[in-house]
Amino acid sequence: MNDKKVKFIFITGGVCSSLGKGISIASLGMLLESHGYKVSLIKMDPYINIDPGTMSPYQHGEVYVTEDGAETDLDLGYYERFTHANLSRKNSVTTGQIYYAVIQRERHGDYLGQTVQVIPHITNEIKKRIFDVAADDDLDFVLVEIGGTVGDMESIPFIEAIRQIRQELGSSRVLNVHLTLIPTITVAGELKTKPTQHSVKELMEMGIIPEILLCRSASPLSPEMRSKIALFCNVSERNVISAIDIKSSIYEIPEMLHQQGYDEIVLEHFKMTKTTPSFGEWNGFMGKLRNPGRKVKIAVVGKYISLQDSYRSIYEALLHGAVANEAELDILRVDSEEVLEKKFRLNARAYFSKNRIDGILVPGGFGNRGIEGKISAINYARTEGIPLFGICLGLQLSVIEFARNVCGLAGANSKEFDPSSPHPVISLLIEQEILEWKGGTMRLGAYKCVLVPGSKAAAIYGTDSVMERHRHRYEVTLKYRETLEKGSLRFCGINPQTELIEAIEIPEHPWFICTQYHPEFKSRPIAPHPLFRDFIRASIENGNSRKS
Ligand code: GLN
Repeated sequence: MNDKKVKFIFITGGVCSSLGKGISIASLGMLLESHGYKVSLIKMDPYINIDPGTMSPYQHGEVYVTEDGAETDLDLGYYERFTHANLSRKNSVTTGQIYYAVIQRERHGDYLGQTVQVIPHITNEIKKRIFDVAADDDLDFVLVEIGGTVGDMESIPFIEAIRQIRQELGSSRVLNVHLTLIPTITVAGELKTKPTQHSVKELMEMGIIPEILLCRSASPLSPEMRSKIALFCNVSERNVISAIDIKSSIYEIPEMLHQQGYDEIVLEHFKMTKTTPSFGEWNGFMGKLRNPGRKVKIAVVGKYISLQDSYRSIYEALLHGAVANEAELDILRVDSEEVLEKKFRLNARAYFSKNRIDGILVPGGFGNRGIEGKISAINYARTEGIPLFGICLGLQLSVIEFARNVCGLAGANSKEFDPSSPHPVISLLIEQEILEWKGGTMRLGAYKCVLVPGSKAAAIYGTDSVMERHRHRYEVTLKYRETLEKGSLRFCGINPQTELIEAIEIPEHPWFICTQYHPEFKSRPIAPHPLFRDFIRASIENGNSRKS
């Protein structure tokens, strides 16, 4: 551990899931940073998968990818968007990883003679993961989010591990926060504290004494409610924080918590210096977010459109881009299969002209459901001069559309969707004989992308090379490069080691840029990603020119 005596803040959740633990802990991280402290954050997920990489977005929402290529919970996205923490695979821990490590050690003979048990072996491994993060850099705080809800069987070893840490380090180094729900009985219009009382009681039975309660409720807590919760849950009234449902934006949450003294309470607990926090850049973002100018309407054409969280980072990055352009973001979520293939039977033209959109974004995805609908949306954008941003699968489908309709390669496809395509313009690396690929089956994490001088991408980024994060198996088939370039598709981003295609653009189109990587993972409210910022700018311009 570093010499600074890192402090640990553990957050548990009560009553039910989806209360926004991830955003609340990210907000606390942001507030502590604004007092000048350095933080890191860990998500502990009590499921047995090693990581969410193989889970369906229907199960888990988006898979967030870190710089070092870990496939993680989407809460890490909030941590990175709200704070400056450098997150890696160490910051995402699952029950699966813990058991896997312990069982491997057992097979290796490291526990010879012992019975391997949940306590102490599993709990020790959990503690080790937390202390490993604390040993990094010059941290002041490690914030740990325990996934799931108190009372779930799965999270018991995690709760026991954090109990032990509190026991070992004492309250001067550890603080427990509990996020809970105060439901409203709609007919009576009354807020109810009983579920919270039970949840705190359950935590206490496991040896955790929460010092701060974050109470999620539809309306603010009255002073009477606060004192009732304080009395029954054994905390001071000041430490009952009202976390009301925010309808406008999650970015309002840090300020809401700060106004109730959340960060002060935390710093007082640790007897640490409080400063007058500086929210400079954050305030700049909030000011623009609250007072937008014109609307910008972006169609996101995807497969998991009905779920809020499947394209979380895309939606956030679009918002950052819109705010940077002082515009209000309106997202039209288009289910490519239902809407374009079934209802409009690939007639994207009819659909989009009816729905007056300013720009189209085609996000990443796996599997062939809905791909022809996406290709028709890309065709519409390309031929009508509508700004198009293709990401990962979006790039691959744009290459297919271009190969079919500009280069005359009938039946062009990706090997992922049509293994016997006569023109597999997208294929696996091992299928491309020119390259010897030694990696795993997926290209994951940050790779270098050299931007071609004079390209639009280079101008937008304002630099000659970038590091961007990947999560895909397939690539543009390099032997088609010349044919595609003759049709005037420009390969504007290239990986210098492998020559793989990282980004493409159509020079004569107002804004047609696609990336094999996922730029959305690196966009932050105070540092919007250049491609998202410029895509929104171009979309606004497109909307204006259409009106005039
Ligand atoms: N299915 C494609 C591939 O594996 C694209 C993946 C993605 O969009 N993340 O390459």
